[in-house]
Amino acid sequence: MTVKIDGNLVAAAVRKEVAEGVQTFHNQTGQQVGLAVVLVGEDPASAVYVRMKEADCAEVGIRTFDTRLPADTAQDELLTLVDELNADARVHGILVQLPLPAHIDEEAVINRIAPSKDVDGFTASNLGRIMRGACGLRACTPLGVMRLLEHYGIDIEGKHAVVVGRSTIVGKPQSLLLLEKNATVTICHSRTADLPAVCRQADILVAAVGRAQLLGADCIKPGAVVIDVGINRSDSGLVGDVDYAVAEPIASAITPVPGGVGPMTRAMLIENTLQAAQDTQ
Ligand code: NAD
Repeated sequence: MTVKIDGNLVAAAVRKEVAEGVQTFHNQTGQQVGLAVVLVGEDPASAVYVRMKEADCAEVGIRTFDTRLPADTAQDELLTLVDELNADARVHGILVQLPLPAHIDEEAVINRIAPSKDVDGFTASNLGRIMRGACGLRACTPLGVMRLLEHYGIDIEGKHAVVVGRSTIVGKPQSLLLLEKNATVTICHSRTADLPAVCRQADILVAAVGRAQLLGADCIKPGAVVIDVGINRSDSGLVGDVDYAVAEPIASAITPVPGGVGPMTRAMLIENTLQAAQDTQ
């Protein structure tokens, strides 16, 4: 029987733990854990993501500081806001929702966030810390994948992990986190020759591409653990990068889309925010 990896279940357990941690932090310090959420422009998908993240915060007792700015906000104005949030002791984490409008340099804005408040784990400093194997706030999606593997008792050491996708926020940090747990890691991307042949070597296959159902039966080794990070809109609703119907019978464990990695990303955001608050003590 293939195990269906339930991100909603694990995320709910994380939220419960975070709620307890937030309460303990309040009891010990008299402070509330705080997250600043910055949304620039009117992108409807971003607005939905921000609402869901703020709802998670409300559920676990994290106070949110919400700033909505118009799409034509100048970069300097946004940088000044980040500086103010960096200096605000009530704010333990800062989330600048991406993507930003085209006239704003995302790198400049993200790297302006103090690494100690970078709860998305996107700053060069925190990504560099993963490379060095040092402590720091880690990118939420790869961290969420690691938590799922841990929760389901999936062995990583010595296994061949194939990560499809080499983005800075998912594929690359994911590869490093798997390497840190002693997997042998292969990273695939848009120029990989014979992608199915490489994927078929995977004991653990992580798909982070953004192409609906790109990975079919010919990409799955029998008994592989399949983690689908992809979120793609199709006529039949949200689908992943893996063709779930054909992959599920071949895999030993698999994440659905939705209900797999997505809820874990949000859960790791609130966990990182608690971590950032605890690190101030
Ligand atoms: P991205 O566009 O930045 O990177 C995609 C990567 O896929 C690139 O490295 C590219 O080389 C690779 N790629 C593209 N076409 C390919 C092909 N045909 N074969 C092999 N590799 C190919 O995307 P991203 O930000 O890393 O996101 C990837 C997917 O994960 C998207 O669907 C995104 O919506 C989703 N995502 C989900 C969560 C979540 O919480 N579940 C979080 C972040 C991203």
